[in-house]
Amino acid sequence: MKKIAVIGAGTMGNGIAHVFAQSGFTVSLIDISQNSLDKAIATITKNLDRLLAKDRITEEVRNNTLTNITTYTEMAEGVKNVELVVEAATENIDLKLKIFKQLDELTAENVILASNTSSISITQIGAATNRPEKVIGMHFMNPVPIMKLVEIIRGYATTDEVTQTIMEMSKTLGKTPVEVNDYPGFIANRILMPMINEAIYSLYESVAGVEEIDTVMKLGMAHPMGPLQLADFIGLDVCLSILKVLHDGFGNPKYAPCPLLVNMVTAGKLGVKSREGFYSWGHGTKDLIVSDNFKK
Ligand code: NAD
Repeated sequence: MKKIAVIGAGTMGNGIAHVFAQSGFTVSLIDISQNSLDKAIATITKNLDRLLAKDRITEEVRNNTLTNITTYTEMAEGVKNVELVVEAATENIDLKLKIFKQLDELTAENVILASNTSSISITQIGAATNRPEKVIGMHFMNPVPIMKLVEIIRGYATTDEVTQTIMEMSKTLGKTPVEVNDYPGFIANRILMPMINEAIYSLYESVAGVEEIDTVMKLGMAHPMGPLQLADFIGLDVCLSILKVLHDGFGNPKYAPCPLLVNMVTAGKLGVKSREGFYSWGHGTKDLIVSDNFKK
């Protein structure tokens, strides 16, 4: 494969476009928002310049990476002659089903259609197309240029051949692919989100404070950041919506979101993106300052 398209130029889309382009692929980066596309190119340029300054890439690689990316606001134009599409648009099921129906109509029938969804069923997305055997999950981690893992999710109908193609391609991007079957939360979020939820329950039940919970997990389990800090970075709304997917998908009360998490999302305390979560982020993300709501 040489030519691919990325749908959605937000947090994940710009990183995905970056790693494909740096590995020599020609990339069509597609978004309905010109502003998102402009921001994506600015972010990719900044990240490449940082790599260049650290001698991690040459000036030639920097320039070729940028040349390999073309932006489009029209999907029909952007997906012309591509061999793979990686969708990284907003996490909304109706939107994803609509995008995959369009992709099914716009691309040749041998084109593989991948989704970067964190929580939506690949089987359901595949069923919206006439080629469910060629629909697969490529779940990159944030920040994409740095994180090594890609969870490769096989929908119910995804073939061995398509899975192998995407596993091999992920390796050419310098990533480590891990194959998983399509069940709620896949592996990453099925394990991570209950841990975050349990940390929030521990706070809710006054077992310990924000700093104490995060310190135990950082120093005791060698996690690079505590679960409450991580939840603030991911976005508490995103954590809540993934927990709901696990709860609905398995029908098991162990996944019930903590009432404190529900309250915080209702109050608009979403973590870094709203400048307030378990920590206060109004000053930036360098210093950890516990939110006034949780100060003793
Ligand atoms: P984001 O909100 O930063 O970006 C989404 C982009 O999609 C926006 O630029 C928006 O304009 C664009 N978009 C919306 N509708 C579109 C359409 N019809 N066609 C083209 N573009 C459209 O979101 P994000 O955090 O980058 O998440 C994207 C996907 O990646 C989601 O499925 C999410 O679950 C998944 N994901 C996110 C993370 C993360 O840490 N942010 C990690 C792994 C996976």
